[in-house]
Amino acid sequence: MNQTTDALIHEYFSTGTLAYLPDSHFIDGSWRASAGRETLEVFDPGLGKAFTTVAAGDEEDVDAAVSAADAATRGPWRKMLPADRSRILLRAAEAIRSNAARLAVIETLDNGKTLAEAQSDVRNTARIFEYYAGIADKLQGETIPLGADHFACTQLEPVGVTAHIIPWNYPISTAARGLAPALAAGCTAVLKPAEQTPLSALLLAGLLHQAGLPPGVCNVVNGTGSQVGSALTSHPKVRHVTFTGSVNTGIHVMQAAARNIASVTLELGGKSPAIVLADADLDAAVEDVLWAIYSNAGQICSAGSRLIIERSVHEHFVERLAERARQLRFGHGLRNPDIGAITTPEQLQKIDAYVDGARSRGVRIAAGGRRVCDPASDAGWFFQPTLLDNLPIHDPLVQEEVFGPVLSVQVADNVEHALELANATPFGLAAGIYTRDFSHAMRLARDLDAGQIYINEYFAGGVETPFGGNKRSGFGREKGLEGLRAYYAVKTVTARI
Ligand code: ADP
Repeated sequence: MNQTTDALIHEYFSTGTLAYLPDSHFIDGSWRASAGRETLEVFDPGLGKAFTTVAAGDEEDVDAAVSAADAATRGPWRKMLPADRSRILLRAAEAIRSNAARLAVIETLDNGKTLAEAQSDVRNTARIFEYYAGIADKLQGETIPLGADHFACTQLEPVGVTAHIIPWNYPISTAARGLAPALAAGCTAVLKPAEQTPLSALLLAGLLHQAGLPPGVCNVVNGTGSQVGSALTSHPKVRHVTFTGSVNTGIHVMQAAARNIASVTLELGGKSPAIVLADADLDAAVEDVLWAIYSNAGQICSAGSRLIIERSVHEHFVERLAERARQLRFGHGLRNPDIGAITTPEQLQKIDAYVDGARSRGVRIAAGGRRVCDPASDAGWFFQPTLLDNLPIHDPLVQEEVFGPVLSVQVADNVEHALELANATPFGLAAGIYTRDFSHAMRLARDLDAGQIYINEYFAGGVETPFGGNKRSGFGREKGLEGLRAYYAVKTVTARI
């Protein structure tokens, strides 16, 4: 079924769907309907129309998946040579690459993002598996000197069954970011995609299985957070929960895991600043700040959703940014515009309400500010790239996450003031710094309260660079070698000799 991108796009626009879409759960190595026979509609945000359905699970499906994952912790995955685990993960990366066209088109349909963004997510997903494939046979402990009469060493053991709760903004790459290190460490997994975007996780589980992953090692149960999510995070056999999503749901997840003393990684929201100092390369900064907020239609937890700009360049910079924002073309993701759709109508409503609120408080809207439709079909869920100028520090658009293409501008008198503004939110996920002054850059990097700092390039880094938040943005780190820590436990063996 290796169709080209063009053939898939043609099939979708002429039939309103695609053939052979997954529609069940993936449990214990096979496709399964729901125990309760419920289904969920899957919408194309670019048209605002359902194009398929998938099984919607309940507690019984979750229990079947966790039991399969638990049995698999005692099976071949645990016992095989780590080098063989590496080979399977590498084959998975190759399988993702050879199915990239289909995966990307489906991701665009499911999520609404542009095809170019979905293609980049799929490349990233393959790269994540490749990166962690290279680590599976290098997870080694240490020896500890206790004197001549003892021998002590540590072993790194898989923690067991891991649960992965995935949001709708980066369905396939967020799934990979948790699954790949968990599998590399020898764990087994049960994954719940967001109910709005279940398809790519199902396809991924199928490809992992084809690559040689034994049954039960990676399971996917679709369904709502209140049914499947809460049953999974409170299941007593789950030893670690990796959650990416909103702060409020993160609190529920942590409470549910706490009852079983299961560990958690929480990647929550953000209100990350891009700080532009007057001495920066302003041409480069305009373009970078633009994509820091408008990539993925702003639906990124680490989006640069605040611009903190030095007063002397404020007017000029905002004017240029507004001009660029107005040039961006939005539309159905498969037509490859600059900006795709908002994934859910609820999210669109939320963005609209935030911008309406700012409008009614008299905030200057330098660009955008309205919901719109795909120009080709006059349908779909879209919001104009929006720029809100000169906001006071306590404005909700400065303190709260919008999760949409809305940039809030704050004006700083100098570097110290920029730092004060940057740290004055409840979040601490990312921060960007634009300056040619090395000292300013390094001092800000030292003092900003955020999990990642980007200097002169927002989103710089890759699977190699750890990612996670401070304060209400969560804790624990994903990606990089740090991303493995959640998935192994250290066992100490000490002997008298
Ligand atoms: P949003 O409100 O933007 O959908 P959420 O944080 O609620 O963000 O969703 C992220 C993921 O968490 C989704 O997969 C969702 O189904 C899941 N989820 C929602 N509620 C719960 C819950 N109580 N327990 C576990 N997972 C949940």
